[in-house]
Amino acid sequence: MFKNSISITRFSLILGAMNFIFFHYPFFKFVFSNLDYKSFNGVLAIVSLIVLMLVLNAWVFYLFLSISKYLGKFLLVLTFMISALSVYFVNTYGVIIDESMIGNVFNTDQNEAGSFFSFKMVLYVVLFGILPSIYIIKAKIVNDGVKRFFTKSGLVLLFALIMAFVNAANWLWIDKNSKSLGGLAMPWSYSVNTALFFIHDAQKNKKEILLPDATFKDHKKAVVVLVIGESARSENFSLYGYQKNTNPLLSKTPNVFHFNATSCATYTTAGVKCILEHKDTGDLYEILPNYLNRNKVDVIWRTNNWGEPPVHIPNYQTSEMLAKNCKGPDCGYDQILVNGLKEQILASKSDKVLIVLHTSTSHGPTYSKKYPKRFEVFKPVCNSVELGNCSREELINAYDNTVVYTDFLLHSIIQDLKQLKDYDSSMIFVSDHGESLGEKNLYMHGVPMSIAPKEQYEIPFIVWVSDHSKTLKPEKSLTQNNVFHSVLNFLGISSPVYDENMNIFR
Ligand SMILES: [Zn+2]
Repeated sequence: MFKNSISITRFSLILGAMNFIFFHYPFFKFVFSNLDYKSFNGVLAIVSLIVLMLVLNAWVFYLFLSISKYLGKFLLVLTFMISALSVYFVNTYGVIIDESMIGNVFNTDQNEAGSFFSFKMVLYVVLFGILPSIYIIKAKIVNDGVKRFFTKSGLVLLFALIMAFVNAANWLWIDKNSKSLGGLAMPWSYSVNTALFFIHDAQKNKKEILLPDATFKDHKKAVVVLVIGESARSENFSLYGYQKNTNPLLSKTPNVFHFNATSCATYTTAGVKCILEHKDTGDLYEILPNYLNRNKVDVIWRTNNWGEPPVHIPNYQTSEMLAKNCKGPDCGYDQILVNGLKEQILASKSDKVLIVLHTSTSHGPTYSKKYPKRFEVFKPVCNSVELGNCSREELINAYDNTVVYTDFLLHSIIQDLKQLKDYDSSMIFVSDHGESLGEKNLYMHGVPMSIAPKEQYEIPFIVWVSDHSKTLKPEKSLTQNNVFHSVLNFLGISSPVYDENMNIFR
């Protein structure tokens, strides 16, 4: 097989076919379930997509191999390896490799990456990545001359143009579904979206827009503990009517209120940004902790997670820093964020204190590893990282246990706050986004907001207030942007950007 040389055209077509067969099952599964394949137009669109995908991918491979055999082979090996991994994630978690998913990949730390490792993943990489790569590296390719190169390239482009015009009736459909189609076409999903991610990231890295100064309205001591949840969906909280008792403590705690709420996005970085900003825009405004810290509020940020906009305050504490003063087996979980919190509030020299706890308790896929064993109330649980391998019951049990643990954490924060008799205090819990647990064959989160199922954006918004501090307005539905204005109101801070309509307190 490797002894004989092969023409560059033939080699490119073979690789185009391999790329098509190995990596495009999810792509065509999407096409078949979203197009009427019994109509003439549907059939035309499907045939055109198949032929175009084969021809255009082969042509791009041909182009790079013509520029340089080494460059072409290097890029081919790289794309086959990454495509193999991508298709594994698409098939296993039902994700779409769009720009925000690329952002998630670049923001995932090594511990999290390890939790995705599985035997099936290795199998994908070996079969669809390494084996084709051996063929690519060993092949002896005979290049075309310049004249042939231009003739063939011209013909391919002409053919693509004709196909585009023949399919004019389907343009609207393609445009409407471009996000999903683009996110499933390999290797374009990750290469184009990686480029877009870095272009947009560079634009975003500009400085945050400062807000006008704020002032204290009074000198009453007040503290808000804002708990940012991870992948918590309201459906599985018994406070929201869930059948299983996942809130054994909060449901019995006086002064606890819950509201229907939606997140502005289905992934961490955007969700957390919305929780911290005074309004949802494409720009980066001064976020709540930076703003309050600059205006003399004592702000403490404790995190066991990642993905927030840049926080510039002196009291930024990661779980590694907190671990030095934490003893016992529970320090490996979000409990670490609560450890010594009361003492830290009491040590504050400001009348106004904001604590932000960025938790990670319901983060998948290994839900069963996110809580101490004694919180394993619902059994049996899913222990596999391939969520599709677990029964639905095991998966939901594991997830529900993370909610039970969240219930415990929020309750213990409230117990701490109750002891601070000199303070008006409040605890606000809001999740960054929801989570899919196998509904519509989707797992985890990150589906583009325009087509996301409600499980990925219906989030819990739970508020506790200390006796004689404040009462709550009867709100029907909240967004993450309510947090900013409500915290300002509770702490007694006046600001030109404050919006009374976005405040939940009376
Ligand atoms: Zn998240």
